[in-house]
Amino acid sequence: MWSVPKLAKPPRHLADLTVEGARAALVAAGHPAYRADQLSRHYFTAPEGKNLTEVPRADRARLRAEFLPPLLTSVHERLADAGTTRKTLWRAFDGTLIESVLMRYPSRATLCVSSQAGCGMACPFCATGQGGLTRNLSAGEIVGQVVSAAKAMRAGDLPGGPGRLSNVVFMGMGEPLANYNRVLAAIRRMLAPTPHGLGMSARGITVSTVGLVPAISRLTDEGLALTLAVSLHAPDDELRDTLVPVNTRWPVREVLDAAWRYADVTGRRVSIEYALIRDVNDSVERADQLGRLLSGRLTHVNVIPLNPTPGSKWDASTPQAQGRFVAAVRAHGVAITVRDTRGREIDGACGQLAASAQALSADPARTPEAGTSPT
Ligand code: SAH
Repeated sequence: MWSVPKLAKPPRHLADLTVEGARAALVAAGHPAYRADQLSRHYFTAPEGKNLTEVPRADRARLRAEFLPPLLTSVHERLADAGTTRKTLWRAFDGTLIESVLMRYPSRATLCVSSQAGCGMACPFCATGQGGLTRNLSAGEIVGQVVSAAKAMRAGDLPGGPGRLSNVVFMGMGEPLANYNRVLAAIRRMLAPTPHGLGMSARGITVSTVGLVPAISRLTDEGLALTLAVSLHAPDDELRDTLVPVNTRWPVREVLDAAWRYADVTGRRVSIEYALIRDVNDSVERADQLGRLLSGRLTHVNVIPLNPTPGSKWDASTPQAQGRFVAAVRAHGVAITVRDTRGREIDGACGQLAASAQALSADPARTPEAGTSPT
């Protein structure tokens, strides 16, 4: 197999472009502008595997190659929770592996997407953080994960019959705000009504960040009512410096100030993520400190029981410690709930998305060629 230069970019895809940009690109390639709308309708709404019947037969192959190149190939799928949780391992054009997880609940369906291959934030408890950053995903690669899940829901591929993808959370691999422009371009396509996008609602999309303050400020001014989640994990700088290394650049106070401005401007409740780690950040004193920091704010704490990564020295808190922690935060009048642990047995839970050759060799029956493409 020939190898692609490491810094080669993913092929251009319609989903990388704005609606106007797509029309201009079609015209520049010698097609009428309205082909952009036809291609979008096909890409966002046609069932998986359907022919490109929207455009003249003679132009199909060329339009596909120029505007709808296959970006992600499914190389492996694992199911859990009686089939209502599905993790997909994707291979990109350059061999890069990424993962996404679709979780169906009685009243909603949520896709956890990756925004980068790997991650540069180096949080020591997170599996993705251990491998470093490989590269940013293109907008088309991010949208591709979502389109595939939306089509799977429409087709009724998960138990429960046909449904709708209602939520997307940027809690897969990567730090979304470190890939700002591509993540925002992808989000705009998710929000755009048919035929230009998936017609999702902004509040159903959650951007989760370690706390890159300038990027949070930029997001605040986008005029989108997205849900913002901040991975706090500690109320004090001394501990947070060790759990979320970027804290040495933007400390707790600055991160929370940026979060409160986001809440003020957008009117959206900010989610505070707190991975509860036994004997590390689960004391009642820290819960109290957290409660004081958050009291009176438009916020909600999401406790994530630590999902230990292989070889990690850390573990989840005991149920007693977790109960005491939650009660102590709640005593400050702060809303707090414990995140469910969907997909743990398939390493599909928070912090476990670390695509590797190991993930592939776990099921030698499936070769990388055996997958389907979301185009
Ligand atoms: N870079 C983004 C998205 C990361 S994944 C961010 O940091 O917010 C989403 C959440 O899962 C983050 O809050 C992250 O800190 C948390 N997480 C990572 N590894 C975990 C683990 N092993 N157990 C529990 N939560 C984890």
